[in-house]
Amino acid sequence: MSSRQSVDAAMALREEDMERILWTDVEISARVSELAEEMSEVLRDSEAAVVFVGIATGSFMFLADVARRITIPIAVDLVRVESYGLGTESGGAPRLTTDLKIDVRGKHVVLVEDIVDTGNTLFWLIAHMKSKGASSVSVCTFLDKPSRRKVIPEPFGEGRFYRGFECPDNFVVGYGMDFAELYRNLPYIGVLKKEKYQL
Ligand code: 5GP
Ligand code: MG
Repeated sequence: MSSRQSVDAAMALREEDMERILWTDVEISARVSELAEEMSEVLRDSEAAVVFVGIATGSFMFLADVARRITIPIAVDLVRVESYGLGTESGGAPRLTTDLKIDVRGKHVVLVEDIVDTGNTLFWLIAHMKSKGASSVSVCTFLDKPSRRKVIPEPFGEGRFYRGFECPDNFVVGYGMDFAELYRNLPYIGVLKKEKYQL
């Protein structure tokens, strides 16, 4: 199988569980390239080191794709935050279960997220990066559901807010995003059929 054929085969994976597909792997890839180009340009002349911090587990695919298209040297780290449990609704204050390994003092942090919903997770993580002495904190989220916002995760210092696509107010899966730890490996982003999570 060619690599295109193997992605096409994966594009058919779990299609029957989707109400609709929002973005295909080709559309995702094109948008990721644009984001990486924009961020590389903005960060190119920065004096401080740049650290991309992925928020596990949901951002793993986006982080891998975007990081390899960045054309300046960056460090990469991960944090793990729990807020959702196994459901489809965000539940209260985020809990940091794995902290940074890298010291971000005096560095530009780019928080890489799969999707911003209420804004709680990023709001909390921006404050956390600030408390660790980051010189700026940017947000790079693949999807953004502004209709659901409860708090605004404002970038800090010279940081900016980058987003791939605005997402409708539906529960989506794929490209790193799960329902009950499934669907993360789908190469596309789809709206999960309600009957798949409303039992
Ligand atoms: P927030 O703290 O902004 O409410 O939620 C952010 C986290 O909730 C995201 O990192 C993501 O893991 C999860 N989340 C929000 N909306 C969705 C969605 O539509 N699908 C999935 N799978 N996760 C979501
Ligand atoms: Mg997440």
